[in-house]
Formats: sequence, structure tokens, C-alpha cells
Amino acid sequence: MSWIFQGNPNRFDIDDYLSRYSQLIYWRTNRYVNDILVGDPVFIWRAGNEAGAVAVGHVVEKPAPAHTVKHPQALGDDLWVANEASSSEFKTGIQLSEILLSADDGMVTRGTAKDDSVLAASTIMKVPNGTVFRLSGGELAALVRLWRAPVAAAQTAGTTEGQRQLRAHYTRERSSRLRRDKLSVFRQEHGSLYCEICGFSASAHHPEPFTERAYEVHHKSPLSAAAAPVRTTLHDLAVLCANCHRAIHASSHVTENYEELAKLYASRR
Ligand SMILES: [Zn+2]
Ligand SMILES: [Zn+2]
Repeated sequence: MSWIFQGNPNRFDIDDYLSRYSQLIYWRTNRYVNDILVGDPVFIWRAGNEAGAVAVGHVVEKPAPAHTVKHPQALGDDLWVANEASSSEFKTGIQLSEILLSADDGMVTRGTAKDDSVLAASTIMKVPNGTVFRLSGGELAALVRLWRAPVAAAQTAGTTEGQRQLRAHYTRERSSRLRRDKLSVFRQEHGSLYCEICGFSASAHHPEPFTERAYEVHHKSPLSAAAAPVRTTLHDLAVLCANCHRAIHASSHVTENYEELAKLYASRR
């Protein structure tokens, strides 16, 4: 059996959750608790204004009360907008293989699904509320086919592991809450914003309110698929100017590039 788990961004910050826990997530499961099995394919569907399938994976822990899950640190209880988390509700553990938060990345938008003859008739299109839906074989096949379809068509070769990891990297860096929190903590600690590699200070060049936009937040941890869920924290992030960020992403050896460029600048100070 395969499944769609739906979430409403007005009640739970889905993008931030998927950005912070890009490997293992838990989803509230209010029905089918005896039908959902380890290994079942899963799509995560974001409701709201930018509705559509935004992540794909498979079940690794069958539905169980929240207080019994294997990795409680990955529950993301703090991301509920309303205080809704309860330790007795059932949660399904899902290992994610890919997250695509925008149409540009290749998520399956509600509009795309509506144009598909099979998906147009599916429950997810007709029932705006509800958390878990069963996917028929035809619906699963349609979602798999449409997933990354525009992006895949533009690529001659298939996705390499490097490309997949790079997308995961940018997904995490795009979490607006992480960025906001990082910049604000950095400013508190250092008095102002500057690039951690080259020392560039935008306030010397750009007037407000453009100063902050000159900075990007870079994820320093290696992009490996660890078995246990790893939460992205503010310590994993570096504040960089757009030039340095681009330079260290110029090749796939991002960690080495970061260290080399930082060392070069440090030796010039
Ligand atoms: Zn810089
Ligand atoms: Zn980066």
C-alpha cells in the first residue's frame, strides 16, 4: 500500500520541518494505523496556497504513539503554530529520499495534479482536510512520473547523488526561519553582520534595508545521509557574502573549498 500524508502550513511549519530534518520525519497518523507498514511508499502533500507534493520517501516506523518513537528529537513538536502536539497521538516514521519545496525544484503542484486524469479524481484533490490518504497504484505511478518532471526533462543525464545532495543543501539553506534566526543571533554576538570568510561588511556598501540581503546562510555540515535524524542547528550555519558562497559551491568539494578560502583570507589579515 502507498500513502499521502497531508499537512497544513497554517497549523504546522512544514517547510521548516522538512528543511531541518531532511532524513527522517514523523507524521501525525489519525487513521489506517494498522494498515501502514514499513516499506510503504509515501508522498508528503503541503496544503494551502502553494499546495502539492513536496517530499517523497517510505515508511520506516509503523504508526505508534508519539512517546514511543525511536527518534523523539525528530518529532518537530515546536513547529506547531497552535499548541497541538500530544504525546499519545500516533506518528508514522518516514525516511525521506527527496524534498522539493517549490515548483522550480520540481515538486508536483496541485495544478499539475489537477491536469492529470488519474490524480484529478484522487481523494487528495477533493478533500482539503485530513491527514492520511491511501494512494492507488495508478495514483502513485502518476505522482512518481510527475515528480521533478520539468526539471528532469531539462537534464540529459539522470540525477546523480551529488546533485541530490546539493538540492538537499539548498533546501536547508532556504528555510526562512533558520536564516532569520541565524542572522539575528550573529548580529547579537558580533554587533553587526559580516561574511565569515572574507569579512565583507555590507553596511559599509549597501544602505538599509538592503544590507541584510547581501548575506546568505551556508550549511557547513557534510551532506551525508546519516542513519539517524540530524537537526540543523544555528551552529551548523555560517553567514557568508553571496560572492564567497558562490565560490565555495563552484565545485562539489564544498567543505574543502570552504576551508581553503577561509584559510587564504585568514592568512591575508
Ligand atoms: Zn565573503
Ligand atoms: Zn551553501
